[in-house]
Amino acid sequence: MSYDTNNVFAKILRGEIPCDKVFEDDWALAFRDIAPQAPVHVLVIPKGDYVSLDDFTAKASDAEIAGFYRAVGKVARELNLDTPGYRTLANTGDHGGQEVPHLHVHLFGGKPLGPMLAR
Ligand code: AMP
Repeated sequence: MSYDTNNVFAKILRGEIPCDKVFEDDWALAFRDIAPQAPVHVLVIPKGDYVSLDDFTAKASDAEIAGFYRAVGKVARELNLDTPGYRTLANTGDHGGQEVPHLHVHLFGGKPLGPMLAR
């Protein structure tokens, strides 16, 4: 799947639509999900044009991958989620239920989150 430069997260990265930003560095941008599913629900996205985790792990440089995943950890620590704990989730493709075709890691926390998947 080729990258759609008009997807909503591409527009957020270009500053064309607003977001509730919680973190930004050279590799990643993190902002609050518009429809939170936990007391803390943040999306962390890479700065580069990657459709999904599959696309990212196939094409991104080691520096991009390291920078992005370090940012995920930093966001969690900055939101004080590291000690109580948190959950990350990257929906990928149709069976993964991915809606926005720019890689995003969901970061959930703020309460005990229960079983891993809805049954
Ligand atoms: P996914 O199903 O993994 O692709 O998740 C997409 C997520 O993006 C959903 O949780 C949406 O609520 C969220 N979302 C969509 N548009 C926006 C937006 N403009 N700002 C913040 N979050 C958004």
